[in-house]
Amino acid sequence: MILYIALGLFIIAIIFFWQSTRQRREAGLPGGRVIYTDTRAWGKVEKPLFSNELGLTGKPDYLVEQNGKLIPVEVKTGRVPDAPYDSHIFQLAAYCLLVEKTYGKRPPYGIIHYPNRNFAVDYTPQLESALLDQLAEMRRDENRTNVPRSHQDAARCRRCGFRKVCDQSLA
Ligand code: SF4
Repeated sequence: MILYIALGLFIIAIIFFWQSTRQRREAGLPGGRVIYTDTRAWGKVEKPLFSNELGLTGKPDYLVEQNGKLIPVEVKTGRVPDAPYDSHIFQLAAYCLLVEKTYGKRPPYGIIHYPNRNFAVDYTPQLESALLDQLAEMRRDENRTNVPRSHQDAARCRRCGFRKVCDQSLA
């Protein structure tokens, strides 16, 4: 159970790891394209996907089967951006990786569903490679007692649950 919680936290950490468009340009992340998708074909995912090899677990909100491929879908609420946030792209990439490891089928793309817009994000070898680099970096940081703050965003600190105990908080 503790292992699952730790791994769960690990994938949550991915969500917050990449934030700026500068980082997106450096990593060459795909921007995502607006698509129409029939939500009736979406199947709820009941159990988390798990890769022992990667030490990674996570649960996309839905999986949709298209032409023999499984496409993960992540649902986001709140403000609809012009393009998907980097953190959302990395989270979706992690689900694509887990789908491939679990079912042996590589998703060609994943879907990020905002309240009134769907973006298809191609799961390219470049995105996979950027994700694996991030996972390796995070594993290295896991054993460090002092990891520098990765942003200059006071609003983010104001919303952070660790603000009261964090010695790098900006708020
Ligand atoms: S309060 Fe600390 S942990 Fe939270 S977002 Fe700010 S710097 Fe990061």
